[in-house]
Amino acid sequence: MNRRYRKTIIAGNWKMNNTAGDTKHFAEEIRSIMPKAKWCDVVVCVPSCNIPAAMKAFKDMRISVGAQNVFYEQNGAYTGEISVDMLRDLGVKYVIIGHSERRQYFGETDFTVNKKVLAALEAGLHPIICVGETLDQRELGVTMELIALQLKSALAAVPADKLRRCVIAYEPVWAIGTGKTATAEQAAEVCTFIRTTIRHLYGARIARSVTIQYGGSMKPSNAGELLGQSDIDGGLIGGASLKAKDFVDIINAANQD
Ligand code: PEP
Repeated sequence: MNRRYRKTIIAGNWKMNNTAGDTKHFAEEIRSIMPKAKWCDVVVCVPSCNIPAAMKAFKDMRISVGAQNVFYEQNGAYTGEISVDMLRDLGVKYVIIGHSERRQYFGETDFTVNKKVLAALEAGLHPIICVGETLDQRELGVTMELIALQLKSALAAVPADKLRRCVIAYEPVWAIGTGKTATAEQAAEVCTFIRTTIRHLYGARIARSVTIQYGGSMKPSNAGELLGQSDIDGGLIGGASLKAKDFVDIINAANQD
């Protein structure tokens, strides 16, 4: 983390978990244990149908509500999709784009990720752009090439002034939901590479202002070490964000000096 230059952001990704009632219950649980310190921003990305419930439940708790996906067209015959204006209308600030589960199960590509990023930025949203290699790609030794390709594709045509609203989440696919976490060194190596790539594209001043998260089985026991790396400015957290106590413990790790 480097709070002097950029925000630390702890974001939960609830995936397809929790009803509106569960959301209310989670908010009640977390209310009494949420830290008072304001050093990091906290976001919970909930299923779209629960956004209104989450807005209500997290109101006055310094927790922003995020979405897990969005479509790039403004409106029209796109059954089942949700537009950037619809999210903005609900008061959403952050939206996850290009999560590996969307790439794996729902045909998300670098091309659609880029279109979604551009649409989200145009609407004033803050995209959390996910990049990450599979185990095969890591073992083949092509991690950095793959990350560079995903990142450059996602950011194609994104102007410098809008890049400041982008969050990059490095999520090695082999670490998501597996309980297997990247070591702090592995995570730091890729996050530093991401910042270097952004520096080559946008210059040093902008590169140092971009928040880069790590995601992949982050939990209270490993959060401190991961967040202690200078280029890791937060976490995108799946499983552990479903448990109020674990999520707060990770927020507390991000609030350390
Ligand atoms: C995620 O869904 O982005 C994620 C990192 O999940 P988990 O923390 O469960 O690995």
